[in-house]
Amino acid sequence: MSLMLLSRILLRGGRLIDPAREIDETCDLLTAEGEVEAIEPPGRIGTPEDATVIDATGYWVVPGLVDPHVHLRDPGFPEKETIATGLRAAAAGGFTAVAAMANTLPVNDNPEVTRYMLRHAADVHAARLVPVSAVTRGLGGRETVDFAAMVAAGAHLFSDDGIPIDDQAVLARAMEQIAQIGFAISLHEEDRALTANGAINAGEVSRRLGVAGVPAAAETERVRRDLALAIGAGAPVHIAHVSTALSLDLIRAARKRGAQLTCEATPHHFALDDRTVLRWGPNAKMAPPLRSAHDVEAVVAAIADGTIDMIATDHAPHDPQSKRMERLAGLFNPSSDCGRLPESEVEALTHAANGVVGLETALGLALELVHRGVIGPARMVEMMSLRSAQLLRIDGGMLEQGMRADITVIDPNMEWTVDPAKFISKSRNSPFAGRRLKGKAMLTIVAGEIVYDGRTGAGA
Ligand SMILES: [Zn+2]
Repeated sequence: MSLMLLSRILLRGGRLIDPAREIDETCDLLTAEGEVEAIEPPGRIGTPEDATVIDATGYWVVPGLVDPHVHLRDPGFPEKETIATGLRAAAAGGFTAVAAMANTLPVNDNPEVTRYMLRHAADVHAARLVPVSAVTRGLGGRETVDFAAMVAAGAHLFSDDGIPIDDQAVLARAMEQIAQIGFAISLHEEDRALTANGAINAGEVSRRLGVAGVPAAAETERVRRDLALAIGAGAPVHIAHVSTALSLDLIRAARKRGAQLTCEATPHHFALDDRTVLRWGPNAKMAPPLRSAHDVEAVVAAIADGTIDMIATDHAPHDPQSKRMERLAGLFNPSSDCGRLPESEVEALTHAANGVVGLETALGLALELVHRGVIGPARMVEMMSLRSAQLLRIDGGMLEQGMRADITVIDPNMEWTVDPAKFISKSRNSPFAGRRLKGKAMLTIVAGEIVYDGRTGAGA
């Protein structure tokens, strides 16, 4: 690929959408030496001899998408994902940078693991990896990591995601210290006393299946506590994967009280409700769980009114064994009107790992919101690029002369059907299999190089 390094890319005639500069118009864009060299009205840029010219007519040209929340499972779980497969899946989904959570094995709670992640990412011709440091050692919730050392090693966000920080004193202290060094803390909000052994949302579906439920209060009560702590500490916080109507009300109220606060929603929480479990079983199980239709409506409304700042995939790859798929007798399917589950199936659902893959479907699902008129294209780009780049304090999120050429070219109208067998991710645990989507990444450009070409369906 070294020859490609010097090549320039000229994107002709695309619809350039850059919410940071409030630009939404047809432009040509030229890259050089990994940076944006020029953005001009159509036809003004001559064609340099060494340029790869791409006709972007009908496409959107946007700042590279940034995902503030993924699990790449590396080090530790190569059967689920590796840094290489995860970053290639990200590029295929249109992402130029992803923030990789710390719940690896070993946990990313020391600079050695952070450096391992960055070293392996550098070998992959795909999206950039932004390391997320654990807040506490071993995600144990007690002793905090050396925040400054983690930043020096390359961490850009702090989170014990996957596990909530139960001890208020530990969390309050961590909030203050992380704020002092200028970074953000991302919170997985769950009161495990209320979650107990619940597998899916507590409601009609859990009752019908005879499966223990996770009440909305398990999230909401923790959001309430942590927003109070954040206001008290005067520290900014980021709430991960908000899933309930009441959490959103609390977020709105805390902002009125001066909380410095951002939050994210996942595609599965705005596109699916808990009835999806009837069809997909363990592949529709995650934490927080898919909620009621009422909560889904509230999440969509909060995306529309700006309460939710960004879209994050919470990409959580799992092998079929971890999902207990071999224990299922095929009861979960679209046509079955299953009543209570047999004991073995309840057991499988209860013990199945949490999480769904999301990198390769997120853009298509976000575009559903655009096609439905919930948000406009500029707001979608703001949520999937600008705001997450700001949260992570990385270059990007906008397109301007002299900036790093991290660019996503999107065909907003290409229709396709989700087929997990075709995912670049190593894992297939998606509740979106078979869904018709409209819109896909056509080109993902990182530092001026094409790392994914959706026109051919191949990594470059
Ligand atoms: Zn989480």
